[in-house]
This record gives sequence, C-alpha cells and structure tokens, in this order.
Amino acid sequence: MPTPLKNDQVQAKIAAAISRLSPKDLESSESKMRFLSSLPDWIYGTIGGNTPCIELRSRSGKLFLLDCGTGLREFSVSGRQPEDKHYTIFLSHFHWDHIQGFPFFGQSFSPDSKIDIYTPFQNAEDYLERQSSLPFFPMNACFESVKNQLSFHLMEEDVPIEIAGVKIKCHRMFHPGDSYSYSFEEDGKRFIYSTDVELQASDFDKSRERNAFFKDADVLVFDSQYTAPEAAKKINWGHNSFRSAIDFASNWNIRNLYFFHHEPNYDDKKLEAILDAGNNYKKYKSCGSLNLYISREGQEIQL
Ligand SMILES: [Zn+2]
Ligand SMILES: [Zn+2]
Repeated sequence: MPTPLKNDQVQAKIAAAISRLSPKDLESSESKMRFLSSLPDWIYGTIGGNTPCIELRSRSGKLFLLDCGTGLREFSVSGRQPEDKHYTIFLSHFHWDHIQGFPFFGQSFSPDSKIDIYTPFQNAEDYLERQSSLPFFPMNACFESVKNQLSFHLMEEDVPIEIAGVKIKCHRMFHPGDSYSYSFEEDGKRFIYSTDVELQASDFDKSRERNAFFKDADVLVFDSQYTAPEAAKKINWGHNSFRSAIDFASNWNIRNLYFFHHEPNYDDKKLEAILDAGNNYKKYKSCGSLNLYISREGQEIQL
C-alpha cells in the first residue's frame, strides 16, 4: 500500500527538531541551515510512501522503468521524459502494488508514445486490460485508449536480451504466484532489481548454476521488508527480513545493497533504525566490503 505521511508523523518530526534546537542555532541564516542539515534523516525528510517504480538510464540515455507502482504517477507528472516518447517497462509480477500506477501513467494515453512491456508472465496484456476495465476504471480512460501504444514482449527466465547495449536477464524467485528479478549489465557494471522475494535455503547454494545470477553485482535493490521476528511470523508471505537480505548479499559478494519494499506499517524513524540495525548486524557478521543503504524516493545512484 502507498503510505502517505500522517499528521502525527509530521508533528513528531517538528517536535523532534524543536527539541534539538538551541539559541545559537538561530543566530544567523547559516547557523539555521547548519542546524537543519545536522538533523537525522527521519526528522528532516521522508523515505517516501509510493509503491515500487524505479527509473533506470543507460549510458546512452535509454530509459527503463522497473515496475508500475504508484511511483509511476510521480514519474509521469514530474519525471524526465524521453524525447522520443519511447518507454521500456519491466514488470516483476502483477500484485497490486506493482501495477497500481499503470492506469495513471498519463503518457500512455498519447498516441505518439510507444510503450514496450517486458515480462515472463504470458497473460500480461490480459491482466492490465482487466485492471483498466469497468467497473474498476472509468470507461473514457479504459485499456482501449492505451492499447495501441503498447507492445508486449515475453521474456524467458535466464535468457538474456539486449536493448540499447544493455544486457538484461530475468530470474524467478520464491513469492506467492512467483516474482521475477531483473539484472541490467552495461560496461561491466551490473544492477539487479529483486523485489517480492522470500529467500529459500537453495538461493544461497553456490553449487547451483542458476544462482550465479546474483554473483558480484555492483548494486542489488532487494526485498528487505521485515525485521527478523516479523519474518518468522510471516513465513510464505513472500518477503525477506533485512538480516537475510544482508546474509544473501554477503554470500554473493554484492557491493551495495539497497533495502527495498519497506513494510507499510514502519514509519521513517523505524526504517532508519532498521538501517542502523543492519549496519550492526553487518559488523557482527564481518561483511566488511558490503555497503548498506535504504531505498529512498527521489534517490539517484550512479554506477
Ligand atoms: Zn508481490
Ligand atoms: Zn510488492
């Protein structure tokens, strides 16, 4: 679910900022700015509450969109649009949170747009059509109005394709109804988007060739929804604890791990605490070369 900031959360941020304020912080505009920038991230900002949608650009500027959660509406309104109006979308699966933004992708209604949708799910077109049909969506904005702009491409697991010089592969992971992770590789750099994943013991097995998908990736954006006690209560719900995400990244020699698919019941303060706990766990497990981050809305990563 999308998680807009609530009144009491905004008030808690303001109250926490004021409680840290001293008279000297108010002396000049510089001291005020210094004070603001010294505040912890959970007070002076928010991690964001849209459902999954990631924008990826290749060296040549080719645009890829990963999943169509409510973040897609944000991209539609204020994102940098490609001059050729060509959008290339990869879908991990069709659970609500990953397609919720699609009917609100304004550019899909423009006859000049060209939208390629890649997924290993055979019935992708049917799923999106049902989503944008009466009574779930108004007649004047239904699937008929966008379908001429769409082309669907069926991917095969672990069979690479190449688009604009980027090598792309998908890989099936354990999740109710399946979910596919995507790897993007260009100039020897590899970015993996892997969400809605509940790790199984076999995913750590280095003797299984299929697992090499993750090995040595530069960046892994990975499902880390739960704390360990919560994951223990939610077996088969299809998500990881942040600790198992760290174990997995360390097992596959990943350099940079981004916690992703945040639990909607956790607020900014709790998510920042999870990042701290993750860094402590990493030290305890001696995963020295692994860097941990929390995925934030609007954040940019350069490979
Ligand atoms: Zn899911
Ligand atoms: Zn999801």
